[in-house]
Amino acid sequence: MAKDKAIRELEDLPGIGETTAEKLRTAGIDSLDKVATTAPHDLSELAGISVDAAKKAVAAAQEASTVNYETGEAILQKRKDIGKITTSSKELDELIGGGIETNGITEAYGRFASGKTQLGFQLAVDAQLPKGKGGLDGAVLFLDTEGTFRPERIVEIAKAKDLDPTAVLENIIVVRTLTTEQQILTLERADKLIAEKNVKLIIVDSLTSLFRAEFLGRGALGERQQKLNSHIHRLQTLADKFSIAVYITNQVMDNPGIMFGDPTTPIGGNVIAHAATTRLYFRKSKEEKRIIRLVDSPNMPEGECIIKVTPDGIKD
Ligand code: ATP
Ligand code: MG
Repeated sequence: MAKDKAIRELEDLPGIGETTAEKLRTAGIDSLDKVATTAPHDLSELAGISVDAAKKAVAAAQEASTVNYETGEAILQKRKDIGKITTSSKELDELIGGGIETNGITEAYGRFASGKTQLGFQLAVDAQLPKGKGGLDGAVLFLDTEGTFRPERIVEIAKAKDLDPTAVLENIIVVRTLTTEQQILTLERADKLIAEKNVKLIIVDSLTSLFRAEFLGRGALGERQQKLNSHIHRLQTLADKFSIAVYITNQVMDNPGIMFGDPTTPIGGNVIAHAATTRLYFRKSKEEKRIIRLVDSPNMPEGECIIKVTPDGIKD
């Protein structure tokens, strides 16, 4: 009889012992299918194993996992159900293909005062517009991790759209989180709330700041990345399950290794880079102008546009 051992769980993969498997589970990679769809570099980073070992583990998981086949036509039909929320800037909407999409994660990164939170406020209002008018007729779940949610701004933006500010505020459920634990738990327990309140947009402003503050130094980097990975995959799961849009903001850090070009990189490394569907880079320009660069999109070309942050919200 052949002695090949069937691969059924993470520990059966070559080079993956109990401890490594536990690290992967903490990072949300808890099945063979998930290992099979993780890039070897990410797996190496998350599990603390060499890239070579990670390549072997991914290859073995791909062989053992069950593949779901779907025709391109079936996927095209499903894509027709994708909803979009206007940013209230025509140019920005065009740049990203019509607005912030449901079933995906849109990330905004950039320096302080570059407009990331302001676009979040605008989306929190616009998501409530009727379908066909740029909205999804839904409520908003706003995770405020930095204490920068301002109802006064929502009132201004709602009035500019001829909406009843009180009704708009009633439809924004704000959760102020002070620890990564609270941030993670809020999403773990969000299913009921999302269904009951018809939430169509989740905003996490910012996704990374608490993680950055709590997991300091090189020693904590692995754990930070594992938890961030699991957290952002939870967001994608909610986006798919309830057909909702997710908008996350992210800070940048100076990267002194870069001599030419832009010396800033977003926090979170590959974990966020691979998980975000659409990535937007925000830069401050003159006065109220902000330059938005589409850095990564599955179906739109790279490009830039200019928006304005005004008292009435985002404008062209
Ligand atoms: P951080 O990384 O610090 O969170 P951010 O990218 O989230 O930064 P925002 O809060 O979105 O920054 O942008 C702040 C800027 O928005 C202010 O500096 C100001 O230029 C503009 N702004 C805020 N409120 C108003 C307003 N009522 N009218 C016009 N512009 C405003
Ligand atoms: Mg902000």
